[in-house]
Amino acid sequence: MPDLRFEGIGMTSARTRDRLVQRLREQGIANESVLERIRNVPRHIFVDEALGSRAYEDTALPIGFGQTISQPYIVARMTEALLEGGAADNVLEVGTGCGYQTAVLAPLVKRLSTIERIEPLLTRARERLKELGIRNVRFRHGDGALGWKTQGPFDAILVAAAPLTVPEPLLKQLKVGGRLVVPIGPEGHQQLVRFTRREQRNDREQLGAVAFVPLLGGTS
Ligand code: SAH
Repeated sequence: MPDLRFEGIGMTSARTRDRLVQRLREQGIANESVLERIRNVPRHIFVDEALGSRAYEDTALPIGFGQTISQPYIVARMTEALLEGGAADNVLEVGTGCGYQTAVLAPLVKRLSTIERIEPLLTRARERLKELGIRNVRFRHGDGALGWKTQGPFDAILVAAAPLTVPEPLLKQLKVGGRLVVPIGPEGHQQLVRFTRREQRNDREQLGAVAFVPLLGGTS
């Protein structure tokens, strides 16, 4: 029997999800595998049941501990930017949150390592990904600004919280040709930036204005 919680009903139905995908297409998301993930990942299981009916709106929603699940457009945009321009075999995500971005990204890469500083969020994310049958993810409770040296070097790194300046350890853990997609700046003035590591330097591209929670130091 299909698991009704994953299938969704009413506001979480296939039609509602198609509408969301259509909206992202109109906003310029072109990568079909990314759009397919947005359609198939049941976003409603990542938020409180009370918010389930809003899960396919293109908005950020609270997930507890003062954090939010990222807006689908932003998840799609970051995933697309990360996959563009090279291999994505070994990937790092900083800021697991509820695990929604992790679930969108994992099947599009070979191996995903994800770090979250708030332990209960990490625990729940791990459970949800297991329920969804996603098995190529390693989880770590820690400060993602330091990266995850023993799993690196990485083809790509995605950061889901905003530092004021780019964390150097993350740039160092990229392979040559690797990409780091990260929102940078104080709240209200953030830019999504993609760094590409070259032999002698790093290329830097601005991808537009965004709004993220701050990247914090330490763990909790
Ligand atoms: N993509 C996630 C977004 C979560 S919000 C989702 O869809 O749910 C950003 C997350 O980054 C928060 O959970 C926050 O606790 C975490 N975070 C902030 N600073 C961090 C750090 N230094 N290391 C690891 N995680 C961090």
